[in-house]
Amino acid sequence: MNITGIKGMNDILPGDIETWQFLENTARRVFGLYGFGEIRMPVVEKTELFSRSIGETTDIVEKEMYTFTDKGGNSLTLRPEGTASVMRAYIQHKLHARDPIAKLFYIGPMFRHERPQKGRYRQFHQIGAEAVGIDDPKIDAQVLAMLMHYCEEVDIRDVELQINSLGCPECRPGYRQILIDFLEKRLSELCEDCRRRYRSNPLRVLDCKVPGCKDATVLAPSVLDHLCAGCAEHFAQVKMHLDDLDLVYVVNARMVRGLDYYTKTTFEILAGSLGAQNAVAAGGRYDRLVKELGGPDVPGIGFAMGVERLVLMKGDERIAPSCPDLFLATLGEEAHRRGFALVHRLQRQGLRVEMDFEGRSLKAQMRRADKLNAAYSMILGENELADGKVALRDMSSGGQYAVAIEQIATLLRQRLAREAQPESP
Ligand code: ATP
Ligand code: MG
Repeated sequence: MNITGIKGMNDILPGDIETWQFLENTARRVFGLYGFGEIRMPVVEKTELFSRSIGETTDIVEKEMYTFTDKGGNSLTLRPEGTASVMRAYIQHKLHARDPIAKLFYIGPMFRHERPQKGRYRQFHQIGAEAVGIDDPKIDAQVLAMLMHYCEEVDIRDVELQINSLGCPECRPGYRQILIDFLEKRLSELCEDCRRRYRSNPLRVLDCKVPGCKDATVLAPSVLDHLCAGCAEHFAQVKMHLDDLDLVYVVNARMVRGLDYYTKTTFEILAGSLGAQNAVAAGGRYDRLVKELGGPDVPGIGFAMGVERLVLMKGDERIAPSCPDLFLATLGEEAHRRGFALVHRLQRQGLRVEMDFEGRSLKAQMRRADKLNAAYSMILGENELADGKVALRDMSSGGQYAVAIEQIATLLRQRLAREAQPESP
């Protein structure tokens, strides 16, 4: 019997992993420019953390969580998203006592039991960032600027930034009721899910993908018309700062997001080229979340990008895997043994070196050097051992360079460094 992986949970193989590493490393670099530091949380948390923060009537909590009871009888859940865990860690370790402002990012797997399809998996990966402790709408604009900066750096173009405001506990209940009244008159046009949840979570109806629900809510009252003065002012300021930074955006008053903890600013980055699963990144402000989880009364804003969707957007673009600096071929038993020790020394001097372990012919060894795309090769035989000298061969130009065995590392490093430099004028 062949044991295979689990449906919707993918391996990331050499050849693809280089793109992942590029996306992750660029996040570390770009987010660092804005003062964000990395945090790593466990992939499993108490179920209550997610049901309380994301919301009982959301799609994630209602049907997508991987929840199980452990041997101690505790209900645990594979994390479906990162924000709740980051805030749990923030509160638990009293990060607010160290610094009232925390800017954190994370990279890692998330789990949701959804129907697997292109761009939608059961184990997927997010790169996310959270800025806690700042009310100023400038941080909303800066977080969005960082996100767009990142997209530019990884060369993901043709994306649209959509923004909205979901109000706050002062104005949302009023809007919610107005929306419920509106939906009540159109119940027969709504899908079964929406008829069931229009009272408990009316905003979700605006997000429903069923065409009938979309049609029925075209004329739904807009949340933006019902913001309190504070939220309206905050939203106006965010837009003003985005304009100051020359960021292009579209206001989408129907964007409600699938998690209950959002307040005020929410946003998504959409890519036309991704088809049905078109959201590359999404996030928003969550000014009540930390307090609701038992922490101090501090505001926050953050986002998460779907790494698989970023990879899909990179398409067939591949990043070449790193190749050996040197392939050491040997001729004869003694040279093979001494060569093995030389490989070890060169690796410890910081060079990527490969050799043959199967006693292959010289020709077969050179074929392997070619296959591995080694930058240089050398042959170590009786003569070379006697002279203490070898010929380094540049595999792309065919040029040969005589060098003392002890000097191999120095010479190779010089040559490789020179080749890595852009052409000087
Ligand atoms: P969608 O509307 O596509 O279901 P979502 O609103 O559930 O997205 P969020 O919870 O906001 O998504 O997660 C942020 C990002 O994570 C999404 O924009 C997307 O890029 C990615 N993402 C979410 N769910 C999945 C999944 N099942 N597989 C792959 N990526 C996902
Ligand atoms: Mg979803």
